[in-house]
Amino acid sequence: MNGMPDMFGCMVFNNEVMKKRLPSNTYKLLRDAIENGTSMDRSVADVVANAMKEWALEKGVTHYTHWFQPMTGITAEKHDGFLSPTKDGRVIMEFSGKELIKGEPDASSFPSGGLRATFEARGYTAWDPSSFAFIKENTLYIPTIFYSYGGEALDKKTPLLRSMEALNKQAMRILRLFGNNAVTRVTTTVGPEQEYFLIDKELYNKRKDLILTGRTLFGSKPPKGQELEDHYFGAIKPRIAAFMRDLDEELWKLGVLAKTEHNEVAPAQHELAPIFTTSNLATDHNQLTMEMMKKVASRHGMVCLLHEKPFAGVNGSGKHNNWSMSTNTGVNLLEPGDSPIENAQFLTFLAAVIKAVDEYQDLLRISIATAGNDHRLGANEAPPAILSMFIGDELAGVLESIEKGTPYSKKDKEVTKIGIDMLPHFFRDTTDRNRTSPFAFTGNKFEFRMPGSALSVAGPNFVLNTIVAEELSQFADTLESAGDFTKALNDLIKKTISEHKRIIFNGNNYSEEWVIEAEKRGLLNLKTTVDALPYFLLDKNTELFTKHGILTEAEIHSRYEINLDGYCKTLNIEALTMVEMVKRNIIPATCAYIRELSETAIAKKEVIPDLACIMEKTLIEKLSSLSDSLYKKTEKLEMALLGTKDPDGILAQAQYYKDVVLLAMQELRAVADEIEALIGEKYWPYPTYSELLFNV
Ligand code: ADP
Ligand code: MG
Repeated sequence: MNGMPDMFGCMVFNNEVMKKRLPSNTYKLLRDAIENGTSMDRSVADVVANAMKEWALEKGVTHYTHWFQPMTGITAEKHDGFLSPTKDGRVIMEFSGKELIKGEPDASSFPSGGLRATFEARGYTAWDPSSFAFIKENTLYIPTIFYSYGGEALDKKTPLLRSMEALNKQAMRILRLFGNNAVTRVTTTVGPEQEYFLIDKELYNKRKDLILTGRTLFGSKPPKGQELEDHYFGAIKPRIAAFMRDLDEELWKLGVLAKTEHNEVAPAQHELAPIFTTSNLATDHNQLTMEMMKKVASRHGMVCLLHEKPFAGVNGSGKHNNWSMSTNTGVNLLEPGDSPIENAQFLTFLAAVIKAVDEYQDLLRISIATAGNDHRLGANEAPPAILSMFIGDELAGVLESIEKGTPYSKKDKEVTKIGIDMLPHFFRDTTDRNRTSPFAFTGNKFEFRMPGSALSVAGPNFVLNTIVAEELSQFADTLESAGDFTKALNDLIKKTISEHKRIIFNGNNYSEEWVIEAEKRGLLNLKTTVDALPYFLLDKNTELFTKHGILTEAEIHSRYEINLDGYCKTLNIEALTMVEMVKRNIIPATCAYIRELSETAIAKKEVIPDLACIMEKTLIEKLSSLSDSLYKKTEKLEMALLGTKDPDGILAQAQYYKDVVLLAMQELRAVADEIEALIGEKYWPYPTYSELLFNV
């Protein structure tokens, strides 16, 4: 192979391959299905399937799989061979349109939140032609959606695809109002920046908590953390560099546009940013990226941690979701233009996003809510749980002038009467980034910074697309019926700014003052997953999702249940792991060390009878009292776990986990961490934070 250009996408049945291998009429029909969602004939699917198979066989492929993204948040697959017996006892390699289009994995044990009764426990997969098929190992992967017998969505992709359609429909209405007739489609684009930790595999294998829960449940603070800030953008160590090279190659082959990789703030933490693509592909690619990170790390004797908060007291990992909308004529709708009319259009889309984030703060919070991410939000490293938007000083100035009807001036520029017909030319301003904002305008896109590193980006993006589609539809309703378009648009933007400017905050989101200020503004502060989830069921949210055909009421309910159930299960596993670690490792280690101290004291006294043995006595005393406390806290946690089955249902159960179990876990950890700091190194049963963080 001839380096990167040849390697890139070599395992993807992409546009180029399609064009080369399909008859031109089939190619046209497939492109139409990809771009406009038109349905395809079985005969067309047969031709596509055959071309896919031929292409795959040339690359040594023997199996195919319908690849889908159930509510577990990771991907699922079921492999079938291409082999097919013939009547005369031979075998041929076969793959039909029918097999391409529809699959029936035996998938009754994926979470469905009550959507599937056992008698119809079947789930079906359906080919999504808008995401390219690809080859991994010896298998052809066909991206699909996953749904129940009754047609309900059982996966993360279905609502995402529906939301892209909804946004396209409403954005097109707005573009037509601006006289924009060349555009035929608006797509949402996403570039998710992925943070992760790399630690040594041998050390990882000695930590039950990492193995079972993905995060450390114990661990006293190391003498050195991230305070020196010497890791951020620091030189990349050879072992990490080799990993990154290998990872890039794997991802390029799969057509993932991995671009930059650098160290992050915490020791052992790194980041990968892809070049953005459509929300649909970006979601698939991010899932593949996470999977490849784990696989390649293992090849290099390391483990990739994708948990949102693997180490207490050290920065957690996020996944910044860069999001925008663009036309099929190549215009980014969140890019300020050169002329007043372009800027008026830009302001309309901007206003829609502002209104959307304000009115649906709850949904955005819910879209990123997991037990793991709760540890990260508001921990002075990640945005707080309060949604707000950063738009920068210049844009804020423009909006203020429009709202108040006052002159706008900046340095040498002065525009006396400002309105959508008399907008100043403003620059793409990417200098004054605000790193603390949960939702920041970064010049030509928004960066949603609340998602945690382990999350599928399908969730936040289907919410983002839907809420913006809703505001665009409201705007279109108003503007389509207006007599004087310019005046109506002026009024609309003015009104939107004045009613929703409370969501705009350009200051420090990590500060105490902001929490107080946000409360004054009436913004939501949903600190935990359990606080946030009930908002999912509010009427305004059901109306939103059903109006745009994104989720039915039953689908909303199932997602609500699945999320709360996941929360309870996560905490339950963590609590049980803690109990086991204490009983089987930490208590024995503490006893052994106390015995060592006692035996030392006795031995010393044999040599010099009147020695005071102050060190031994003090340590024995401290450790004895701490281990009594450790034992009591363990019993307390075990007791707490006995009360988790709440007859009042899943919400009450999740609340109990949050208020009772989590608290007992924290208390237990505090004691164990104190013991760790006192105990001899060779006695402590687990690798320490220092070893884990500074050993790669
Ligand atoms: P940084 O935030 O590090 O300065 P960039 O501005 O280049 O970097 O972008 C960060 C991420 O945003 C990248 O993954 C990039 O592909 C993505 N991005 C850039 N433009 C868009 C867009 N129009 N839509 C979605 N994502 C985008
Ligand atoms: Mg970023």
